[in-house]
Amino acid sequence: MRHVISAKAFDRDALLGLLAEAARMQVALGRGGLRTQDGKVMAALFFEPSTRTRLSFEAAMLRLGGQVISTENAREFSSAIKGETLEDTIRVVAGYADVIVLRHHEVGAAARAARVSRVPILSAGDGAGEHPTQALLDLYTVWREVGRVEDLTVALVGDLLYGRTVHSLVYVLSRFSGIRLLCVAPDVTPLPADVREYAAAHGVRVEVEPDLHKAAQVADVVYQTRVQKERFASAADYERARGQYIVDRGLLSAMRADSIVMHPLPRAGEVAPDVDDDPRAAYFRQTHYGVPVRMALLERSLQAQVAGEPVWSESAEVQ
Ligand code: ASP
Repeated sequence: MRHVISAKAFDRDALLGLLAEAARMQVALGRGGLRTQDGKVMAALFFEPSTRTRLSFEAAMLRLGGQVISTENAREFSSAIKGETLEDTIRVVAGYADVIVLRHHEVGAAARAARVSRVPILSAGDGAGEHPTQALLDLYTVWREVGRVEDLTVALVGDLLYGRTVHSLVYVLSRFSGIRLLCVAPDVTPLPADVREYAAAHGVRVEVEPDLHKAAQVADVVYQTRVQKERFASAADYERARGQYIVDRGLLSAMRADSIVMHPLPRAGEVAPDVDDDPRAAYFRQTHYGVPVRMALLERSLQAQVAGEPVWSESAEVQ
């Protein structure tokens, strides 16, 4: 089944295929969308807050002609509050929908869900673990805006420890050659060792660069992130990390004319608002690319066979 649990599952060919498919979806969007998923239902099951991921997944399904059922605060407004396990919730919802988009606060939750689901699970983030579909739209953004996904210098800035989008992005970039990553992080939020080692094992040059200006001068992409306040055990560590690296007009003046600034958003002060008018500020365009990329992902998952016996049969006979 075509679950999307980890960005590691996409090899180079799968990534290039997905970029091409998303570009096809972008053209289809310009013509008003498609009707390929008419009669199909997507469930969005979100145990953590979301704006872009949930709404762009919902928009993507609607633009494919499908329909959507959704719970946006499942931690409080689903039976989880009554003590229902994630596995039981998934078993139930898999009888209501053809695909489930799941965001959860625990690392590994999407993999647990996939083990019991009879329909594809698309992870929309599992705690501080991964955010694979964000990485795919980030790759698409780089491809469209920089014009290539190889031979790139990417400055990863901010919370590289808890920032799940960074982990998935590193896995995706590791599939391509000539990648150099400059890690610009407060000392309390370094890139996790396992993520760094994965990249290095795939031929990526990973360097620590505490000076954001120096990194920005050579980067094709400055990938800024929010310090993930909700994940810190220590308020003092959060205060140390917050506000250390800011993308502002001064930084833009150090950047090359053909580079871009990305951010998975939301921002919490780490990109100054007066950067928005600069053509290199790609982060709002990045949010919009989420729709064609998620359309491509939904098509890919929904084409795959649903496992096990169908919930509904064409016969009305009582068994
Ligand atoms: N929206 C992204 C995420 O859910 C980034 C963030 O929250 O800072 O991981």
